[in-house]
Amino acid sequence: MNSEQVDLAIVGGGPAGMAAATLAASLGVSVVLLDEQTAPGGQIYRNVAAAPPGRLDVLGPDYAAGRALVDAFQRSTARHIGAAAVWHVSAERMVHYLQDGQVKSLQARQVILCTGALERPFPIPGWTLPGVLSAGAAQILLKTADARPSEPVVLAGCGPLLYLLGWQYMRAGVPVRAIVDTTDAADRRRALAHVGGAIAGWRYLEKGLTMMRALRRAGVPFYRGASGLEVEGDDAAHALRFVSAGRAQRIESRVVLLHQGIVPNTQFTWSLRAAHRWDDAQLCFVPITDDWGALDLPGLYVAGDGRGIGGALAAALQGQLSALGAACALGRLPVAERDRRALPLRAELAAHLRVRPFLDALYRPKAQNRVPADDVLVCRCEEVTAGTLREHVKLGCTGPNQAKSFGRCGMGPCQGRLCGLTVTEVIADARQVSPEEVGYYRIRPPIKPITLGELAREA
Ligand SMILES: Cc1cc2nc3c(=O)[nH]c(=O)nc-3n(C[C@H](O)[C@H](O)[C@H](O)COP(=O)(O)OP(=O)(O)OC[C@H]3O[C@@H](n4cnc5c(N)ncnc54)[C@H](O)[C@@H]3O)c2cc1C
Repeated sequence: MNSEQVDLAIVGGGPAGMAAATLAASLGVSVVLLDEQTAPGGQIYRNVAAAPPGRLDVLGPDYAAGRALVDAFQRSTARHIGAAAVWHVSAERMVHYLQDGQVKSLQARQVILCTGALERPFPIPGWTLPGVLSAGAAQILLKTADARPSEPVVLAGCGPLLYLLGWQYMRAGVPVRAIVDTTDAADRRRALAHVGGAIAGWRYLEKGLTMMRALRRAGVPFYRGASGLEVEGDDAAHALRFVSAGRAQRIESRVVLLHQGIVPNTQFTWSLRAAHRWDDAQLCFVPITDDWGALDLPGLYVAGDGRGIGGALAAALQGQLSALGAACALGRLPVAERDRRALPLRAELAAHLRVRPFLDALYRPKAQNRVPADDVLVCRCEEVTAGTLREHVKLGCTGPNQAKSFGRCGMGPCQGRLCGLTVTEVIADARQVSPEEVGYYRIRPPIKPITLGELAREA
């Protein structure tokens, strides 16, 4: 089969991918950007170019700001392939994707993976009941279809996206019954050790405080230091139970939105067998790269949140740095010119990342919400509980890969995207070793579901 040839393929059309494509194209590189979404924008700027004024107003200025990035990308010579689910990127830089039921492939000389982040799993009792969603999923419905809950919601967990969605819902007229925050005094004390970064990143903190003040003014109750979270219900969510300020609380709601931060989407880097390390500050695995985002595999780079959570502005800067690295490797930019152009980008990136240690310490998700009790489902696809996983450890299961053979954990349609980190942490806790020692699933293609018929048509 003949595959299209291209200088640079970029997987993911968020800030990292769009910024990388725009810069590389301006240097004369032939660029193709693929994304499973139909329009460019990624998570933060999802659907921004098509958003009507009312939705732009509800979602706020940080969302609307994405239009400039999308416009610049669309004006560039980079080619956008939307609605393309990339299911395999090989070490030889063949990019395989599925579009409109057709399997297609590209041969690229360089590849930048910009596949962003996923929400961290939030395995608590009742988290699989109908009516429980992640805050990110609820926000996707708002951004793409203006879909809003028709009844009051409870938001629970920690991290900037939790408060952002509360604020956006308030502006959209969705009643927020409560914000149940797991952040406690110990988190605030730990964060104080990074106060220098907080001062440097005061703009981020000011935005967060403004949102919280607006929610308070609107009369939304805040519960602090919440522990023992449980969603109550038999066939659907009815209420959220928890303990706050030493008192048991129960808030009735049929819509419970959970969130405790985001983690890098490392499916491609694991499937490429690239080296990873455990980042204890962000409680996740990150791929090991050099300063350009290059992996230990020729011609393959990672930029944006897929390399460690840094936010949209940092993602765009990392995208540009990887584009300079790739353009230089392609012979379109002398080394000295690459380095000269990189200098201001690196300074700006360092400034954006200065606030991260403060945010990571403040919003460190609680162990009880990451390493659940025995009866809580860990792998939703194959219905494996934490207790079953612990039994497997007693029988000699040492890590996530063995967990697959012991009980099919991680072998369902999500291919471990939803349960991977929980499985690592439950096994590490049961064995009393570090997550680094336990490791992660051995990820294999297809990264996205594809039928045998579709595959056979490509062959
Ligand atoms: C659900 C969610 C909502 C968020 N909302 C906000 C927000 O409102 N405000 C904010 O400041 N931050 C938000 N964030 C964080 C924000 O996404 C990042 O900081 C920033 O967008 C990272 O940019 P990126 O370019 O690295 O990746 P992203 O913007 O995440 O873009 C990654 C892109 O890769 C594509 N992709 C992934 N896998 C494949 C595949 N196999 N095939 C094809 N395409 C693929 C995705 O469709 C996506 O468009 C959100 C994160 C998540 C997970």
